[in-house]
Amino acid sequence: MDAVALAFVDPAGVTLVKCVPTRRFEEAVRFGIGLSPVFSVFLFDDQITSSPQIGGPTGDTRLMPDPDRTVALAASPGWAMAPVDQVDQDGEPYPACPRTFARRMLDRLGRKGLELRGGYEVEFFLGHRLPLGPEGEPDPEPAHRGPAYGAIALADVEPFATDLIRAFERQGTGLMQFHPEYSTGQLELSVPHETGIGVADTNLVVRHTIRAVARTHGLAASFAPVVYPDLVGNGLHLHLSLWNRRGRNLFQGGRGPEGMTREAEAFTAGVLDSLHALTAITAPSVASYQRLQPHRWSGPWACWGRENREAALRFITGMTGNRPQAANLEVKSMDGSANPYLALGAVVAAGLDGIERELSLPAPVLDDPASISTRRRNSMGIHQLPSSLGAAIGHLEASTVLREAMGDVLFDAFLATRRAEREAYEDQDPAAIVRAHRWRY
Ligand code: GLU
Ligand code: MG
Repeated sequence: MDAVALAFVDPAGVTLVKCVPTRRFEEAVRFGIGLSPVFSVFLFDDQITSSPQIGGPTGDTRLMPDPDRTVALAASPGWAMAPVDQVDQDGEPYPACPRTFARRMLDRLGRKGLELRGGYEVEFFLGHRLPLGPEGEPDPEPAHRGPAYGAIALADVEPFATDLIRAFERQGTGLMQFHPEYSTGQLELSVPHETGIGVADTNLVVRHTIRAVARTHGLAASFAPVVYPDLVGNGLHLHLSLWNRRGRNLFQGGRGPEGMTREAEAFTAGVLDSLHALTAITAPSVASYQRLQPHRWSGPWACWGRENREAALRFITGMTGNRPQAANLEVKSMDGSANPYLALGAVVAAGLDGIERELSLPAPVLDDPASISTRRRNSMGIHQLPSSLGAAIGHLEASTVLREAMGDVLFDAFLATRRAEREAYEDQDPAAIVRAHRWRY
């Protein structure tokens, strides 16, 4: 191993790295590597805003790599990737660190005797970036043009797929499945479920492995919510289940709806209750709202239902006989511009609120919500999620659950970045928004 990339996702959802030669890794584990606090108020386009607590050129934080979660990257010879916690120079937790926030929420869950298992299911675009022209960078050339799920599409990307699968298996990430997805140039994969913070750490490794393999084939990968205006976008769906101390999956074998236990039901109901506010975190970019629309299976409706792919919360029971392993909740209203730590932490915070308030679920929605009349939909309590970043920000601002969970410093920094991105991009035309976001995630 020659070098380690210390990887950090800023509140804007952009993955940042600071790298050390392996010789210095030990020292980095003890004393960290410096990073300005200002990265907590960076926008996705490298502009900088400020929050009441953060901004300006002074101060320092330390990035502390987690040696237990460091992965030697099979597709990047000589390189390993280490997720980091951000602390201050006295070694105290830095209040705007997204990973620390997620771990704090998972610890809260742990104190209730619950362990989260899950994984991010990743959709991405694969294609060729084209040289800059007089009008900027043209739309990329896709690596396949379908058919959706098609063997022809697979044949087009097969050398890439072979290397990708090999890299995942070799570096211990593992792979559950891979397929050509619906949209032009789109692919999808899912990885074995992990426990706790590993869910988000692995997402960083997954994305970097995909990027590295793409590069060796002269291709580029994008996890942006949309890559072409008007086409189906890329989701980053979070699958999760809760397990008790006896090693039992609480999303099955209970007397609640669809076999959930009371705790799993209350957790799900808490997530449902906060869904509008969560949208600012799970679909955080201006571009997110080109994806989060009906009839794209992006989960734009605030409701839940067994195997309902238009519902933000799709409940998956798995097959008879396999439910103890397979039953899980899928949060679909999420895309790759989301910070995987903030999203995980915020979903858990909302679920914990549901458990604490002993919430119950409404009836499941088993139809396409768009096919139900507005009047009936309203009477069933089904509402469409915010359809713009501005609307989502309004819901987040009003969420005491998420402010309390994130703490003022992180909450205000995150809001500051969302407001600044909305201001800078919301009025641009859809193609310009797509272009600005396409190669940032
Ligand atoms: N591409 C869809 C999205 O944007 C998801 C399709 C699916 O259900 O896999 O989330
Ligand atoms: Mg998919």
